[in-house]
Amino acid sequence: MAKTTPMMQQYLEIKADHPDAILFFRLGDFYEMFLDDAVVASRILDITLTSRNKGADEEIPLCGIPFHSCQPYIAKLVQHGHKVAICEQVEDPKTAKGIVRREVVRVVSPGLVVDSGTIDPRRNNYLLAVAGRESADAACGLGFVDITTGEFRITELDGLDAVAGEILARDPAEVLLPDGSDGAWLHDRLQVSLAGRTVNRVAEWALSDDRTVQLLGEFFPDGSLEAFGCADLPGARLAAGMLLHYLREARQGAVSHLQPPRTYHCRDYMVLDEFTRRNLELTATLHDGKRHGSLLGVLDRTVTAMGARKLRHWITHPLVDLDRIRARHAAVAELVEESLRRDELRERLDGIHDLERLNGRIAMATGNAKDLVALQVSLQRLPAIKVLLAELQSPLLDRLRDAIDPLDDVVALIGQAIVDDPPFVLREGGLIRAGYHAGLDELRQISREGKGWIARLEQEEKARTGIASLKVRFNRVFGYYIEITRSHLDRVPDDYQRKQTLANAERFITPALKEYEEKVLGAEEKLVEIEYDLFQQVRRQVAAEGERIRAVADCLATLDVLLGLADLAHERDYCLPAMDESTELLIVEGRHPVIEAMSLGERFVANDVRLDTAQNQILIITGPNMAGKSTFMRQVALIVLLAQMGSLVPAKKAKIGLVDRIFTRVGASDNLARGQSTFMVEMTEAANILHHATPRSLIVLDEIGRGTSTFDGISIAWAMAEFLHDHADVAARTLFATHYHELTELAETRERVQNYNVAVKEWNDQIVFLRRIVKGGASHSYGIQVARLAGLPKAVIERAKEVLRNLESGEYEAGAPRLARTAGGRKAPAPQLSLFEPPDPLRQRLAEIDVAVLTPLEALNLLDQLKKELNS
Ligand code: ADP
Ligand code: MG
Repeated sequence: MAKTTPMMQQYLEIKADHPDAILFFRLGDFYEMFLDDAVVASRILDITLTSRNKGADEEIPLCGIPFHSCQPYIAKLVQHGHKVAICEQVEDPKTAKGIVRREVVRVVSPGLVVDSGTIDPRRNNYLLAVAGRESADAACGLGFVDITTGEFRITELDGLDAVAGEILARDPAEVLLPDGSDGAWLHDRLQVSLAGRTVNRVAEWALSDDRTVQLLGEFFPDGSLEAFGCADLPGARLAAGMLLHYLREARQGAVSHLQPPRTYHCRDYMVLDEFTRRNLELTATLHDGKRHGSLLGVLDRTVTAMGARKLRHWITHPLVDLDRIRARHAAVAELVEESLRRDELRERLDGIHDLERLNGRIAMATGNAKDLVALQVSLQRLPAIKVLLAELQSPLLDRLRDAIDPLDDVVALIGQAIVDDPPFVLREGGLIRAGYHAGLDELRQISREGKGWIARLEQEEKARTGIASLKVRFNRVFGYYIEITRSHLDRVPDDYQRKQTLANAERFITPALKEYEEKVLGAEEKLVEIEYDLFQQVRRQVAAEGERIRAVADCLATLDVLLGLADLAHERDYCLPAMDESTELLIVEGRHPVIEAMSLGERFVANDVRLDTAQNQILIITGPNMAGKSTFMRQVALIVLLAQMGSLVPAKKAKIGLVDRIFTRVGASDNLARGQSTFMVEMTEAANILHHATPRSLIVLDEIGRGTSTFDGISIAWAMAEFLHDHADVAARTLFATHYHELTELAETRERVQNYNVAVKEWNDQIVFLRRIVKGGASHSYGIQVARLAGLPKAVIERAKEVLRNLESGEYEAGAPRLARTAGGRKAPAPQLSLFEPPDPLRQRLAEIDVAVLTPLEALNLLDQLKKELNS
């Protein structure tokens, strides 16, 4: 750029420090955007794009917005995933020599929004960082903050599957990755879970333990790595460092309410990977990503924003600790019984403001007097809540009652200092209650007396001049004046001085009025100033109690969730599940919590299930399309999840041996969430199960193997089921729905495999789905090769090949299930020498072909293959 002006020079320098942000460059009363920023912003904000140097060779695109109404513009850019850097003039233009100095004072991005108008109150607005190294495949650090509430948590996860699951569970507004090759690698590996999210990078120089320790020390001078719980977790530490570095760079230093990082451990929660979370539709539906129709949609009966956020956390992080689960169950069960108290408690909670976010605003000094009053009226409800809780027995409710600090001091302070209904603005007075501050009261007295003084003056002057229409008034430009209409001008006394002439009146001032004006105006100005100072003092005092407020908010959130779950359980007739450490799973008359609640027309049919690791480890569920297989299996998984998050369950009776993780996998063509899904993806997911399942897991396999040809599909499904059965370390409770009827033969050779099917009835030439699960059992691609690529265990691959050979050779043996034939199998009979000439294999294959189910392409391939075999 040849003819750059000094100002453009300055702009370009600042922009160079913020290449990934749209730079709002303060020029007088406007924020201007230039070049590409202007092009992008003008389109999103729908404002006019003009240019500097119009007509010259080097036009510079330009657009601008008035600085005093910038909020909605910033919000809109951020909602579109952009980062906005706000650059202000940092010296007075009048005294500046040369060009005014400018600096970026604040950066706003989706994870750094604090404006309550633009974020959903019922969910957290997380900024999440992933600290992973390509070289070290093991532990990966992860951390997140919500600057609106001050929550700050870090952890370490083994493997990127867990990271992807956690990203989906936290559903962050913005994700931070390291810059450089590690970040590129992470981005590539986490592609699916990052899709549609704003991703920003943290500079490589900032990614050191030294920098992290330094930042932690600056933000939390009283803390220590031991206290944060991350002394032995370098990955978790690094994630914390990335977050703090980003906050620092974004000039979000004023986050005094940010809690010290707390380390959490995923072993404290049931493991749910990304596919399982999506597939079970925990917080969003598969088909449109909406909350309505998800488990959260049905479960959420919370009445506060804090409760809503907590419930989302409970659903996405079910527990694995029996004591904690039982404590929640006991509380919910008691609240189900105590209808009256439940309703009363919910009424008291309803209308309590969002204490966590109020707390954040107060700490960040963006909270106004209305926020303080909102805090006060919310806290005033606490004593009644404590009284109600005292009438209940369960230990968790008792603990909550104990932990709810009514914060009397804060309530009293706000009550004494702030008026009941203060204005939004802070600099026009009217905030502080009379009696709170003697000096303020005195000034107010002066200004009040002034009003009487004016009225008196008006009366006196009317009497003196005999002009009945004489008025004493005030306006901001001219101050106090006496107004006389034109027709009475001849009666104006000599001591009146003319101040302003209007069309049909003249305005005057007198020395007495002038003197009064100075006194009163001074008082008004001082009043506003004192009020603002007092308000800030009060706000600081309240902010100092932030940790106590946060603790109360957390108790109320928990209480709200428990009450909501009780309300649902009461209305929908849920039962209290018996929980233990066994590997049993027994459900009597279980229902699908969401479909039951949403079902239109068709009555929901309840079903039983029994799973264990003795006889009923693997249930093969067959039945026609649309019979209800998928619904049944998901219902079992959801009931387990509900139980372990602390809820009662939609069943008549349930006994649940603790589940450490739930896996669900859906055959490729059923997998709606990943439209472009391939067989490779299906197999990758399957591989993940076989590598990570334990005897405590619950596995739901829905039409696995259907992404490839029939023979491949059956073979892989068969081999997987055998593997889950035969290997003690992965022998998990498994539900396996399939349309391959051949798989029912498994039950003949494997003792812990049971067949079930979904009953149907033929009636008047039509098929009627009975929706009842009953006992009993009702073609070439490169699938196995792909499965091997995806990392399926070698044993499974080998066995699949063997089974495929059996299938393709099409040999029958009287009395023996044909697929089960194995070189080293347990129950299969030893191979026998045939006494007869073997039948012609080609003939036999032809005889077996069912032309009715072949696609034209399959038919062609088959024909081609048969011809090759004939020629070989
Ligand atoms: P499949 O997996 O066997 O093809 P689905 O589980 O997808 O069948 O069920 C098909 C439809 O049947 C579902 O959309 C649901 O509305 C209905 N359905 C399934 N199970 C039940 C049930 N137990 N009671 C009532 N309706 C059901
Ligand atoms: Mg299905």
